[in-house]
Amino acid sequence: MIRIGHGYDVHRLVPERKLILGGVEIPHTLGLLGHSDADVLLHAIADALLGALALGDIGKHFPDTDPAYKNADSLELLKQVVALIHQKNYRLGNLDAILIAQKPKLAPYILEMRQNIADACHADLSQISIKATTEERLGFTGEEKGISAHCVALLIQA
Ligand code: ZN
Repeated sequence: MIRIGHGYDVHRLVPERKLILGGVEIPHTLGLLGHSDADVLLHAIADALLGALALGDIGKHFPDTDPAYKNADSLELLKQVVALIHQKNYRLGNLDAILIAQKPKLAPYILEMRQNIADACHADLSQISIKATTEERLGFTGEEKGISAHCVALLIQA
């Protein structure tokens, strides 16, 4: 049995917040706004994993009305999602994600993001694909108002 999931997330860029993507703190003049650390990439990944097993989304599992998740480390949230997947007798086959940001240049940080995600998913680096693109200055990502991320993930019954 294999199951496919899709995740999508957006966070607004604002001053005086850290920019954390894939568990990597990236030097930038703006950061992402959110109740947790606003790691848009990890949120899209967690939603893809949950979606593959029709388990809802991270908003359902970690509500932003719950003070326990204020400034939460999204790598920890992802680890909890992976534990749930394992509990349901599934493991990650592979995942493929895209970060959409006009700035900053993300290429230097991609390998470290993949390693963080592989560790959180108990997976090999070869199972984790992260790509980054711009939207050619179009739309909210192009105008640097926010960053979005997509992810598709394949789960395999253990
Ligand atoms: Zn989010």
